[in-house]
Amino acid sequence: MNTLQDIAATLQGYDPNALSVPDVLAFLERLVSPVPDTETVGVFDALDRVLAKDLISPINVPPHDNSAMDGYAVAGAALQPGQASAFRCVGTALAGAAWRGTVGPGDCVKIMTGAIMPPGLDTVVPLEFVSVDSDVVRWAADVVRPGDNRRLLGEDLMQGRAALARGQRLGPAALGLIASLGLAQVPVVRRLRVAYFSTGDEILSLGEASREGAVYDSNRYTVFGLLRRMGVDVIDMGVVKDEPQALEAAFRQAADAADAIITSGGVSMGEADHTKAMMRQLGDVAFWRIAMRPGRPMAVGRIPGARGPCVLFGLPGNPVAVMVTFLAFVRPALQRMMGSTPSAPVYLQARSAEAIRKKPGRTEYQRGLVTPSDDGQLWVRTTGNQGSGVLSSMVQGNGLIVLHHQQGSVATGDAVDVMMFDGAI
Ligand code: AMP
Ligand code: MG
Repeated sequence: MNTLQDIAATLQGYDPNALSVPDVLAFLERLVSPVPDTETVGVFDALDRVLAKDLISPINVPPHDNSAMDGYAVAGAALQPGQASAFRCVGTALAGAAWRGTVGPGDCVKIMTGAIMPPGLDTVVPLEFVSVDSDVVRWAADVVRPGDNRRLLGEDLMQGRAALARGQRLGPAALGLIASLGLAQVPVVRRLRVAYFSTGDEILSLGEASREGAVYDSNRYTVFGLLRRMGVDVIDMGVVKDEPQALEAAFRQAADAADAIITSGGVSMGEADHTKAMMRQLGDVAFWRIAMRPGRPMAVGRIPGARGPCVLFGLPGNPVAVMVTFLAFVRPALQRMMGSTPSAPVYLQARSAEAIRKKPGRTEYQRGLVTPSDDGQLWVRTTGNQGSGVLSSMVQGNGLIVLHHQQGSVATGDAVDVMMFDGAI
């Protein structure tokens, strides 16, 4: 396996003290790899899992040409352009069984949505276009063209072709699609296990009495929520005291049990505590300063565990910095570990409702609230105090305004990129 040094050597101009956001992403892409284990689960249990193999369609969906409407099936070739039609109805085709009658020239068959098209008939005239006089069915000129209102065999999924690709995250539509193939079981990547704990002597757990200089641990809950939304198995380790024995025990326990560890706090430059020292002692860990705001300090590396190396994400302590670094870096890295096919971030473009000052040379993530104006144009404004400890700015926003590395100040009305929270938060 490549060491952090090997990875650094592949990146041009790698400087741990001045990494850009794209540098970090490139580094992490080389650091993490998909977990190899797979399992087979029932369709209900496949929600939010990642498909482990291409799924080849064993059948055609739909299995026959069938009607898309309630109406009358006719041969399209018998329709005369520009002329009204009159056909004799010789039977009714219901969904669920083939109609066994025979059709002659000038005949039509009453047909229900989903019923198999009788042989030789390829067009359906919807009920609302016809008038019926005993067994004669009439409709006006040109209400349908040949082939209309018919669904073709295999038009959704073709037998023998890939219906879903490996790496696809299985959402509600994919579950339905798997079921439409008649498959009750599906191969998925094993769920990722992620352990997390907060560090710092000033951090209080819920239930502890408050004391001067102490703050309640919010990172435990934001990280929990972010991880749960990703569908990983979480191993919650609470707050770990800033003592070498406690930290060592926590890191070892986490590395033995999990694929990745997320810590918060104790990685900034001025830290007088033991977190950095213990990370360095136990693993192959780099300490970075990233050209971004919020979230400048971060530690990344691997700590050996019982089942192999465990990836470490040492996030900063500030609550907004934790969420931003998670969304910017940890989330894509974990998706890669989960076997998910990586997708480029999709930004929404909105016009800034205010001027924002920004220096080129770092990436800034401002908490934004995107709303449509009456003319349908999307506007975004920042949500109050943008301090890296102001968690309320995250609660009020519905996305992060991403001001990219080279970007300068934004004027009112300028288009900006927004990373919407969607299902992530
Ligand atoms: P640090 O990165 O350890 O210097 O922490 C930066 C700031 O974040 C400090 O004000 C900490 O008190 C705060 N902080 C660190 N960890 C947490 C946490 N788990 N919950 C809430 N605030 C935290
Ligand atoms: Mg600290």
